Amino acid sequence: MTVANLLELDRDALAVFCEQLGEKRFRATQLFRWIHQKGAADFTQMSDLAKSLRDKLAGRATISAMPLISEQASSDGTIKWLFDVGAGNAVETVFIPEDDRGTLCISSQAGCAVGCRFCSTGHQGFSRNLTTGEIIAQLWFAEHHLRRRLNLPDNQREGAGADKRVITNVVMMGMGEPLQNYAALVPALRMMLDDHGYGLSRRRVTVSTSGVVPMIARLRDDCPVALAVSLHAPDDALRDDLVPLNRKYPLAELLATCKHYLTKAPRDFITFEYCMLAGVNDSDAQARELLALVAASGVSCKFNLIPFNPFPESGLKRSLNERVTSFLRVLQDGGVVATVRKTRGDDIDAACGQLAGEVQDRTNAKARMTRAPVQVHRSGSAVAEAIKAGRAGRQETAQ
Ligand code: SAH
Ligand code: SF4
Repeated sequence: MTVANLLELDRDALAVFCEQLGEKRFRATQLFRWIHQKGAADFTQMSDLAKSLRDKLAGRATISAMPLISEQASSDGTIKWLFDVGAGNAVETVFIPEDDRGTLCISSQAGCAVGCRFCSTGHQGFSRNLTTGEIIAQLWFAEHHLRRRLNLPDNQREGAGADKRVITNVVMMGMGEPLQNYAALVPALRMMLDDHGYGLSRRRVTVSTSGVVPMIARLRDDCPVALAVSLHAPDDALRDDLVPLNRKYPLAELLATCKHYLTKAPRDFITFEYCMLAGVNDSDAQARELLALVAASGVSCKFNLIPFNPFPESGLKRSLNERVTSFLRVLQDGGVVATVRKTRGDDIDAACGQLAGEVQDRTNAKARMTRAPVQVHRSGSAVAEAIKAGRAGRQETAQ
């Protein structure tokens, strides 16, 4: 007899499981609330379930998160956890407290196969997708662990909780490309949004992607949470080099999909992330190309500039503060909302792009990543021109 880990099951799947045990489907809601709202890991705690059901569950199911390897706390309050996901792999989760919110940055894969030049996860290569349970366990652990530590009520009263949540926002910005692990991601997102689970609104859950075009379109239909797209370059030639996935899904296709996404999205804009790399993508001219690009695409957007967090193998440097400010000003003067992301947790290597965990690479990333220095191309407006002219795709935009 197999033992099911109930963290793997969203409420629908839990209802099916209950039926298989010969129980009514509605028991699933009770069970789900015990697990996700109250943080129960033990069936004996579940006082409103019949003893016979608790006994049945004890033999057939567990509620088990991955073993915790370590916890590190930054001087700015950021906390990073490292979890063992087996076979020599470990993933990281980061909690970022702010005055008015608590954000959890969650990993979706052990490693990442996209291989962006500026990302230390990308340099480690790819081992495997996380399961739904391993994705949601990061939130389950963090929420209840912090609640206990802060001495917040255990939330066992009916209706209590929403205002007592420690984690108010989730960003899928940890290790991995969430849209290359779509099947496991979507049930985990549903559990985050479920009123009987974490009850987060769709605008407080953000999926960040390097641009897996077909899966952006599917997410729009299946679970349209807030979308952040890692842009990093105003033209295909440079983006091909920085984000290799661009060779498959070039900018014109990516932007067209972003526009389509917004027809269903809870937020009326896409957040474009842009990692500022000295001498590579940070000139005023490139900022103007970006303006032309997004204007031509018609995508309502906001830019979030991320100062590059360096690591030795990348061979890249962080843009100087003056450069970031100047780039920001060009975007803002062009009428685009733009902000600079505050770096958090860099003293514990928890900042964007520094998450490295432990990855048993199966993709020969080291060889792939040892490439020639980035080629800087200065003629990025070709994509904007092509979009304006109603042409899209690789052939038309090739320079
Ligand atoms: N794979 C997804 C989500 C994880 S990365 C994606 O690429 O969007 C989360 C964000 O951190 C992305 O915008 C990514 O481009 C950025 N990032 C990666 N490496 C970085 C680094 N070294 N410095 C700053 N930002 C980085
Ligand atoms: Fe993967 Fe995102 Fe890192 Fe690129 S930036 S390698 S897509 S995790």
